[in-house]
Order: sequence, then C-alpha cells, then structure tokens
Amino acid sequence: MSGPDERIAPGRRKLPELPEWAGPATRLVHAGRRPDFNAGSVVPPIYATSTFRYPAENSESASGGNLYEYTRYENPTQEVAAETIRELEGGEAARVFGSGMGAISTTLLSLLRPGDEIVALESLYGGTVNLLTHLLPELGVKVRWVPTDGSPEAAMTPGTKVVYLESPTNPTLRVSDLTRWSRAARAHGAVSVVDNTFATPVNQRPIAHGIDVVVHSASKYFGGHSDLIAGAVVGPKEIVERIRATHVVLGSSLDPIASFLLARGLRTLGVRVARQSASAAAIARKLPGVPGIASAHYPGSASEDEEQIARRQMSGRGGVVAFVVAAGDDAARAFLGRLRVIQPAASLGGVESLASLPVDTSHAHLTPSARAQRGIGPGMVRLSVGLEDPEDLLRDISEALGTP
Ligand SMILES: *Cc1c(COP(=O)(O)O)cnc(C)c1O
Repeated sequence: MSGPDERIAPGRRKLPELPEWAGPATRLVHAGRRPDFNAGSVVPPIYATSTFRYPAENSESASGGNLYEYTRYENPTQEVAAETIRELEGGEAARVFGSGMGAISTTLLSLLRPGDEIVALESLYGGTVNLLTHLLPELGVKVRWVPTDGSPEAAMTPGTKVVYLESPTNPTLRVSDLTRWSRAARAHGAVSVVDNTFATPVNQRPIAHGIDVVVHSASKYFGGHSDLIAGAVVGPKEIVERIRATHVVLGSSLDPIASFLLARGLRTLGVRVARQSASAAAIARKLPGVPGIASAHYPGSASEDEEQIARRQMSGRGGVVAFVVAAGDDAARAFLGRLRVIQPAASLGGVESLASLPVDTSHAHLTPSARAQRGIGPGMVRLSVGLEDPEDLLRDISEALGTP
C-alpha cells in the first residue's frame, strides 16, 4: 500500500483560473471552486470541524498567518459558499451567516452607533422591520422611514449613516430605483444596503447600480430547496472587515454542513431562477383573468414608471407573484386549504411552490391601517412559484377558487 502522500498527484494541487471570457452561467457553476489537496475531488469537501490545528512552526498560536482558527470565524466550506455569492454579486468580499436575519442584524449593528440615523424603505421583510422598530431604536439609532412612493433624498440628514431598502418589496413587489437610492446615500457619505433576496443576482446586481452592500436570506433562492437557513453579505473589503469584527462577536456563523448545502444549491441557481421567473411572469399575466381574483402584482406592474425602472435594473422579474382573492381574507384562507399542488407555507425560493397570506405571516404584527399603507389589502396571497409545470399551478389556483 502506498502512503497517502504518494497518492496526491501534483496536478491536484492546482486548479486553472477561469478564463476571462467565461460567461455568467459558466461563472455560476465554477465560482468559488478550490483545489482539493487530499483526493482531488471535483466537489469541495465538507470541513466538518469546529477548530483547526496550530501551524507546527508556531505551536503557541494560530495568529499572524492567513490560517483557519475556529469555525465561528472562518471555515473553508463557508468560504466556498461566500466566494460563489461574492462573484455572483460582483463585490469585493463576502461572508456567510447562520441566517438572513443574522446577516442583516450583524451588518446594521456594525455600521450604526448611538445617535446615528438610518433611512429605510417602509416596505421591508417583517424581521427587518422588527429590528428597525425595536432593537435599533433601543440602542439609540433613529430610523427615518420612506414610503414606497416617497423620496429618499428628503429623508437624508447629516446624521444618516445607512440607507436600507429592498426591491422588489415583499409582498406587493414594488420596485425602487437602486441608482437613485445609492446616489442619495453617497451624497451624504452614508452606506447603502440592499436586501437582494427576492431578485437574486441572476435577475439584479445592486452593486452594478452603485449600491455598497448587498445582504441575502440564503434560506430562499440561494439554498433553493427549502432545506436550510443561511444568510450572506457582499460588499467592499473595508466594510466586510468591519462586519466580520461584529460577526465573530455576535456569532451568527453558518455550520459547515449547511455551508456545503448552500454551495451545492448555488450551482443550480441560474437554471432555477430563470425557470421560476419565466413561470411566474406567465402566471402573473394570466391571474387577472381567473374568476375570483381581483388583481395581480408583479415587479413593474404598479406603474409605467416602475416598469421603466425594472427594465433598467432587472434582467428577469423573479419567481414571486402576489394576487388578491376578491372575496377577502377568510376566502383566501379557505382557498389555501383547497390547494392540491401548491403548499400553504411561509418562505419562498424553493423548488416547490408555496403560498401564504401576508396578513397571517410576514405582516401579522401590523395593524390593518399599517398594512393598507403598504398596499396589503384583504385577500392578498403571496405565491412563490416553484419548478412545477406553470399550467398545473394555474389550474390548482383556479380549482381551489372553485372555478374549474
Ligand atoms: C426570509 C427573508 C429574510 C430573513 O432571512 P432568514 O434566513 O429567514 O433569517 C430577510 N429578507 C427577506 C427579503 C426575506 O425574504
């Protein structure tokens, strides 16, 4: 038997750089790949370890070198996922987190101090609204909300340190002009942050529109199979370093096995999101003609202005559609119970279609008037379109509304 060292062919130690002409689909499949020094495996191995040996030449400490120390800080499997996401978003540096909220809270707690102000779009993910309504104000941060049709410029003050938004929004799928928001931030020396979970970098790359930092719930399209909870941050090196310092203290780290699942899911992000976006666009077009449905919402559908913005900054409109069951909330709840293909559940971005009522899930904590202010009226249903045949999903919806 040969010893392990003799089995390592020298070629396994190198992996060629991707050629500069490689296109986006090629980059998506190969981004973040690394050589496997031990066995030459095509898929990066899972480093299921909490800690790493000190280098032999300095057995007292692991500090000083560019070495791994402890998985709460860095781990090679986390880095494969982070590097893939970094390349997709076109940023300088990236980190993965134990959840989307871990990524968002760590980012905001890194960038804000007592007395600072944050300008935020009014329509945000419920957990982020919670963070901005309770924890951050309790820590002395002032929040200035901008309505969906409002002006970010008008909300800026000399104390503004961060500008924060989502586009498209949840669940009404309203679109904001990323270039305009990034310029407003830059003019005041503030850091702009976009939650790009709904669009994904397949459809929208905020950094290309001047945004500084992109945050993600990787539990959605990135993982893509509704089987993990994870988050990610991409941004300039200097800012991601600041976020790292807070990250290692708050400890929202991604487990190596979940990191592997995330990296694995990312390899098919391009085909999944392209198919989900095409199906969702087709469904959004047909929904208003289905008896029992009052209206449908899809990025760009709110106004000609938003259609123009969506055209400029999105290559596809995404896999989430919202629609209004004309008979109201109770009818919409009964409708969810009658679906046979689409599953009633919160979350989005998986291979299976999911439907939920924002009034019972993401926006349950708001008063009816606060919901109405965000465009969430009675009977609104959010649909995350999966990889099923789109005509089956439409039929499921029509039959569950009682109109076969
Ligand atoms: C789900 C979601 C989050 C929170 O992510 P978790 O992974 O559940 O912590 C943040 N933003 C958006 C837009 C989301 O959809």
